[in-house]
Amino acid sequence: MNIRQNAGASVVPFPVPLKEISKNRIFLSAPHMTGNEQTYIREAFESNWIAPMGENVNQFELEMAAYATTQAAAALSSGTAAIHLALQLLGVGKGDRVFCSSLTFVASANPILYAGAEPVFIDSEEETWNMSPWALQKAFAAAEQEGKLPKAVVIVHIYGQSARMDELLALCNHYGVPVVEDAAESLGSTYKGKKTGSLGAYGIYSFNGNKIITTSGGGMLVSNDRKGVAQARFLASQAKDDAAFYEHSRVGYNYRMSNVLAGIGRAQLEAIELRVSARRAVFGRYSAVLSKHEAVKFQPELEGTRSNRWLTVMLLDPAKTDRSPDDIRESLETENIESRRVWKPLHLQPLFAGCKFYSHNPHGKTAVSEKLFAEGLCLPSGSDLQPEQQQRIIKLLEEILD
Ligand SMILES: *Cc1c(COP(=O)(O)O)cnc(C)c1O
Repeated sequence: MNIRQNAGASVVPFPVPLKEISKNRIFLSAPHMTGNEQTYIREAFESNWIAPMGENVNQFELEMAAYATTQAAAALSSGTAAIHLALQLLGVGKGDRVFCSSLTFVASANPILYAGAEPVFIDSEEETWNMSPWALQKAFAAAEQEGKLPKAVVIVHIYGQSARMDELLALCNHYGVPVVEDAAESLGSTYKGKKTGSLGAYGIYSFNGNKIITTSGGGMLVSNDRKGVAQARFLASQAKDDAAFYEHSRVGYNYRMSNVLAGIGRAQLEAIELRVSARRAVFGRYSAVLSKHEAVKFQPELEGTRSNRWLTVMLLDPAKTDRSPDDIRESLETENIESRRVWKPLHLQPLFAGCKFYSHNPHGKTAVSEKLFAEGLCLPSGSDLQPEQQQRIIKLLEEILD
């Protein structure tokens, strides 16, 4: 094997200077700072608390728990880490089964593989694009027959829209299976007045750079189970036992959020409601103009729910236009505007080849998640998107579609 160490290896320059790419580029979802981040970061620097743990971490956890209306929260290095710990806390291990939404980012399901467990994917339904209670029922019935119920169900609130939680929770409760809510994209969204992320056994949020608020990278685990959250903090700091020396009885992780980044999160959280209304306004402007086009539809908002509209997603009916999502994405790209296809369903990913999948639709009819993948396009949706930038995008889209 030819092993090349870093020393001596030639450095390949990034092909295009980053400055040139970002100049005038309209991003899908750019970070939006409040200005107050520096205050909290300065506090961390002034106290020389440049470590995981510290006052910003403690306060950010309390503030997030209060915002999510849960008893406790643990600040972590990523949303993925939060899902991984949630599965650990629920005892998911080798050979176990975990149900998961199929229409999502791979980070929802990677932790199932970290645990050595088997993911089973559940289709979407049309009204929320999230986990279909009908498909979930089919999956539970089949699993019960096999005598192998899942250890957990990961329910995603995609693009900020809440799933049908009453129906989904009723099924999970019936089978006695705990729920992990992947609310990475839905911070600030509600289901019947309750915050998404607060409804399952555990909820997770992400503060990745493209999310509605960011710490540049980070995540949060929330729950009403204070002991569980305390255990998550323990596992996230290398599972160091309570001893005068370094003693370890089980596998741990280095998953804590740094005190510097938690400072960014505190300032960002202060602005969450402004960010939600800004993203909702972005959605409103797109849909007001483009809904008039007969080929265009947008992600619905289920009655009784309020979406943070993290991303505005447009669907193109192939029976009514010959423009595909990729055509539009490429046209926008030539104008230095970023847009993205809808998540490719996980049951179609090579990584998960051979995993079980339960469709919302009867056999022979295209699954809902597959249709959404084929027809959907995510439009620039940042809370800092300027109205004149959006006017330009809308005008371009109208030209492309007409
Ligand atoms: C972003 C995201 C995650 C992962 O969050 P990270 O903080 O990037 O690890 C998980 N699930 C969904 C649906 C996401 O969009």
